[in-house]
Amino acid sequence: MKTLLLFGATGDLARRMLLPSLLGLDSDGLLPDDLIIVGTARSAGDDAWFRERAAKALAEFADADRCKPDLMDRFLARLRYRSADVSTPAPFAALAEAVGDTAPKDLSIFLSTAPSLFGPTIEGLAKAGLAGDRARLALEKPLGQDLASSRMINDAVAVHFPENRTFRIDHYLGKETVQNLLALRFGNALFEPLWNAGGIAHVQITVAETVGSEGRHAFYDETGALRDMVQNHMLQLLALTAMEPPARFDAASVRDEKVKVLRSLRPIDADAVRTHTVIGQFQAGSIAGQPVTGYIEELGHPSRTETFVAIKAHVDNWRWHNVPFYLRTGKRLARRDTEIFIQFNAVPHSMFSGPAAALQPNKLIIGIQPEEKLSLRLMAKEPGLDRAGIRLREVPLDISMPNAFADKRRRIAYERLLLDLMDGYQTLFVRRDEVEAQWTWIDAIRAGWAANDMAPKGYPAGTWGPSAAIALTERDGVSWND
Ligand code: NAP
Repeated sequence: MKTLLLFGATGDLARRMLLPSLLGLDSDGLLPDDLIIVGTARSAGDDAWFRERAAKALAEFADADRCKPDLMDRFLARLRYRSADVSTPAPFAALAEAVGDTAPKDLSIFLSTAPSLFGPTIEGLAKAGLAGDRARLALEKPLGQDLASSRMINDAVAVHFPENRTFRIDHYLGKETVQNLLALRFGNALFEPLWNAGGIAHVQITVAETVGSEGRHAFYDETGALRDMVQNHMLQLLALTAMEPPARFDAASVRDEKVKVLRSLRPIDADAVRTHTVIGQFQAGSIAGQPVTGYIEELGHPSRTETFVAIKAHVDNWRWHNVPFYLRTGKRLARRDTEIFIQFNAVPHSMFSGPAAALQPNKLIIGIQPEEKLSLRLMAKEPGLDRAGIRLREVPLDISMPNAFADKRRRIAYERLLLDLMDGYQTLFVRRDEVEAQWTWIDAIRAGWAANDMAPKGYPAGTWGPSAAIALTERDGVSWND
């Protein structure tokens, strides 16, 4: 018998992602028949109240075909609710009572609450007997604000939940296209021989958003782009792109290889931040033809928080010697786009001559969102008789994942992650040593910014960030793939 205990059950993440994901799994018969989902949050309410709220959230956020009355009724019947202010120990006994006797049970616990509540929640769980050998704990980001606070959270977790029962979420790892990167690299013989400094000139990883701070002003202003996006999602994408082939697709093998990459990141210290990083903050501009205000106006007070960051990173190992990894992420950029862009080396000698025969290096683009696609850019001959010399042109070899797998449903990342949590598969969750290696690298950059008193440069909303971000790559003769 399995139980899912969901903290923060009334929150935004639960409403938009977790409940729709669970409904999706239930609709496809992927949840055990006897699974009970106990939701808990601070708000007062009972089972009926929670089911009504959940039904509203599902009507708004789940796919319409999942909301058929029979599917909804079956799912809602699984839900229970207990109000609990986790900052006090009192309510945990009632939670334990709702969960029932845990000894014969498989208990998955999901903390979709602020990290400041993780410590008291875990203590309360342990005292109420809910942290036993068959209990697994999932934690939402942010896992700290720096290495020291991340260690404190990890230490507090480790007292009652050993690493093999701790599931740190980076929801990018639940995305199909991110897992597809592993299939592309390690399921094909084609790329791996070139996947190194001998074959690849540089890598770009872009996570571009058109939204601003979306009502999370206080959180975002304390966090900034580096910690909100680079510390977790982008470094995970970098690790998957750069890691050595794992021997097996299992948690230890994959995470061992990722952490080696994260530990090989060249530190960007106070001397290097000025040449290897650019920070920006959006100003008024327009997105898709609509005027938008600047960050300061959105926030309502002055701030030096970066809403954009670009970084030239290096992985200091044999495979990636001197290959730059350019990372950039920002809010209110020109287009919503998450992609990994790999530029291969130019051919060593071109036998073609003339301006119409200029060769472009091959490129591989792995589109993650909004379009899930693979695009390989190759040189091809333009049809014609070529009396004035051969004409060559770059052409894309495109695979749109939704088209290639049109008969397969596209899953929300959390569907995969919730199922893996309940089944105890840790491959797509982040291990403690990975998080701490990520923070070590990020903290050095932040210390460098502070030492240099670096302030973000303004950029108009709807552009690709400050012009200094363009200069960051152009100095190396590289253009961002806009
Ligand atoms: P949220 O909308 O602010 O919800 C917070 C939840 O925590 C609510 O259910 C709230 O209950 C509960 N809560 C607050 N104080 C509590 C207390 N003292 N005792 C018990 N419950 C308490 O936050 P969210 O957006 O869902 O995010 C949850 C976590 O996921 C955060 O750590 C966030 O950083 C992370 N996250 C969110 C997103 C997202 O897209 N939303 C994405 C990635 C990560 P009441 O409403 O009843 O007070």
